[in-house]
Amino acid sequence: METLASSETISVTSPVSLRQLYAFEADGRDRIDKIFQQARNIQPSIEALTAKERIEYVMKIKDYVIANRESLIDRIVAETGKSRFDAFTSEIFEICDVIEIFKKKALGLLKDQKVPTPLVLMGKKSYVIPQPLGVILVITPWNYPLYQTMIPSIFAFLAGNAVVVKPSEVTPLRGVVEEILEKSGFLKDAIQIVYGGKETGSMLIDSRPDKIHFTGSCATGRKIMEHASRYLIPVDLELGGKDASIVFDDVDIDRTANGILWGAFTTAGQSCTSIERLYVHQSIYDKLLNEIVRLTQQLKTVSSEDDLQKTNVDVGAVTASFQLRIIEEHVRDAIEKGAEILCGGKRIEGTQTFMPTVLVNVNHSMKIMTEETFGPVLPIMPFQTEEEVIRWANDSPYGLGGSVWSKDLKRADRVARAMKTGNVSINSHMITEANPHLPFGGVKESGFGRYKGDFSIWTFCNMKSVLVDKQSSMIEAHWYPFSPTKYKLLNTILDSLFVRSKKWLNVLQTAMQLDKIGRKEKY
Ligand code: ADP
Repeated sequence: METLASSETISVTSPVSLRQLYAFEADGRDRIDKIFQQARNIQPSIEALTAKERIEYVMKIKDYVIANRESLIDRIVAETGKSRFDAFTSEIFEICDVIEIFKKKALGLLKDQKVPTPLVLMGKKSYVIPQPLGVILVITPWNYPLYQTMIPSIFAFLAGNAVVVKPSEVTPLRGVVEEILEKSGFLKDAIQIVYGGKETGSMLIDSRPDKIHFTGSCATGRKIMEHASRYLIPVDLELGGKDASIVFDDVDIDRTANGILWGAFTTAGQSCTSIERLYVHQSIYDKLLNEIVRLTQQLKTVSSEDDLQKTNVDVGAVTASFQLRIIEEHVRDAIEKGAEILCGGKRIEGTQTFMPTVLVNVNHSMKIMTEETFGPVLPIMPFQTEEEVIRWANDSPYGLGGSVWSKDLKRADRVARAMKTGNVSINSHMITEANPHLPFGGVKESGFGRYKGDFSIWTFCNMKSVLVDKQSSMIEAHWYPFSPTKYKLLNTILDSLFVRSKKWLNVLQTAMQLDKIGRKEKY
């Protein structure tokens, strides 16, 4: 995929044949103003829908995606160059799975959330109302163009917001989301698409959405946060990663090798939670390495546009040409510093497909072990002790995901807890993302904010707190008038309520004193 950023013309090309697929003019200020106006106009009607009605609209999207899965996959694979199987599992299946789970889950999350009220506020009740924020701007990357565009937008819509979404200019899937929304009978203007590159993205921020949900690179995340700070727009940033996978000596070699292979090479390593570095216990290093290399050599890669139609092709192309340059640079840097290529290591001539690559003799002085490579490259390093491998795993500016492989689940749990990341899978990789009940997000330079799980909808809400007094004749204990006696009484209440040796009789007395104050009895 290539973007001609110098003008406002976006050119979308096949990462496999390198031919241009189509080109178009990026959306400018006039269209953006119109889109935001429409979003502001429709938002109150979305807010007025019941949770069930919103869910029913979202179910229409799911039905359409299921019925039209093959034509949607055609568009995804053409622009990303990913294998058909990858497009099926990580985009189509995932979209359906998330929607199906939130059919029920959203009902609970959108209800008023009752919370306890402490004794000192006796007689009152408290709850939280999840209310929409207004218009949400979703800015998406090129690696999962349909999933990343649909899922945050659906969560924001379920929360009662209108959504403006800008897909990546590298894989815009121009017209696809509109087709899904229109043909499925989704609510008009509730989710709208704006096309363009960073200038368009920047103009969208100037339109002052009520929240920005961004998935993309660290560098762009910084710029977006800086820009949003001018208007104090809240942001969720889902940024890059350098996931470590740690394999202990007691694993099933066959299963683990297969799992590592998928974790490293799915979507040609272009997931923010792909395995970017593998640490294997010294005692099984050779055995596991041999198996990984053997399996890697058997992987079928996309080498022509015809391969995008096949369901027996494993690893797709590198979607963005600028990313391919980074991958090649990381491999070159590693080789110069003493690494050895056991398989792969080069691109297929005339394409952006990079052969699945296994590298050894690597260390943390190399970019391949410390910077995000985002390609089908698996560098492997042996380790001796648990303490050492945890230190290496955490030796990264990123903190997105990771995995631990061991039959000793206590040890795996201990290591998972010690990893400074937002997600860890045990005896699998990236599997946390397959459970929409689990929150997703990172720490350190991988960003902040969580979505999916309970945060899915709440991240797009004003979680409004309400506390109700039934309008009795009582006054609150902390209201005027103040007096020395009342001050003394409040001290007694503090002792009764909070000292460790709290006696229930004291608590009862406190309740009675509060009652007296409330009724304005003289003190
Ligand atoms: P990647 O897709 O490689 O993660 P980026 O992080 O640069 O690349 O881009 C992710 C998304 O952010 C894309 O939709 C891109 O157009 C958009 N974008 C890039 N720069 C800006 C910017 N300055 N303001 C708003 N959006 C931007």
